[in-house]
Amino acid sequence: MVDRFTQQTRSRMMSAIRGKDTKPELIVRRILRELSVGYRLHRKDLPGRPDISMSGRRKIIEVRGCFWHRHPGCRFAYEPKSRQDFWQQKFASNVERDKRNDRALRDQGWQTLTVWECETAQVTSLQERIAEFIEVGGHSASGKGRNYPREADETPAG
Ligand SMILES: [Zn+2]
Repeated sequence: MVDRFTQQTRSRMMSAIRGKDTKPELIVRRILRELSVGYRLHRKDLPGRPDISMSGRRKIIEVRGCFWHRHPGCRFAYEPKSRQDFWQQKFASNVERDKRNDRALRDQGWQTLTVWECETAQVTSLQERIAEFIEVGGHSASGKGRNYPREADETPAG
């Protein structure tokens, strides 16, 4: 597999995880900036105000907390011991809303990728998944990205 990130970039990302920018969304945004991908945050005109949208590519990345959004099989998606009825209702409504939004986005022609909070601890594999999803760099040996027209309304990368 081609290593698209320099050692310097990677160590910067790793230190970010240990350091202050620990929020999963920030980690994903940093990866996108490294890939020179423009994006917008929480667009109000899209179902569920998706975390990150790339209108030129018609792609969405949702960054979800394992506990609140019930990452299947994840150790962070544990069941609290008290007030079980409350939690089960809360979880069920979160999961249902996520599904509904995903479906609505797909119906409008968007491709969606869910990044779980726990996955942002493994930056290397997350980088690969995101690059593959947005088709930056592709599988070419040069690692050079395809050229996509940049939407006027997208935030310039960097
Ligand atoms: Zn998880």
